Amino acid sequence: MTHRPIRRVEPDGTRVYADYHRYKPVPVEKRKTRIRKPANPDAILWNGNWYLPLDVLPEDQRVMPETRPDSLTLEHGARCRCEVCQRPEAAVLWRRRHASQNGRVIPASRRRPREARRRA
Ligand SMILES: [Zn+2]
Repeated sequence: MTHRPIRRVEPDGTRVYADYHRYKPVPVEKRKTRIRKPANPDAILWNGNWYLPLDVLPEDQRVMPETRPDSLTLEHGARCRCEVCQRPEAAVLWRRRHASQNGRVIPASRRRPREARRRA
């Protein structure tokens, strides 16, 4: 394996590299190890494994799902079983509203802000 560019390929298949080093590839039937590199030129080698590109939709044909905000749950009735009300964030919103109606405040996060962590 060399990183030097191939200067020319002779008729018998011998490669002549930029530093005049010569190498004739072993025929497939005489190889001791199989060729693992896929024929697809877009294949990617990562951690010793070859990965083929996925068949995905083009960017202009992709459609993102409609999003529904968590605050929608506060407009719904209690024990609503819809998709928005079953999220864990909906329970947090309900708990925070219940606490604020009873004069308590639930902090958004117990974690200290990044600046405070850096100072300590
Ligand atoms: Zn609901």
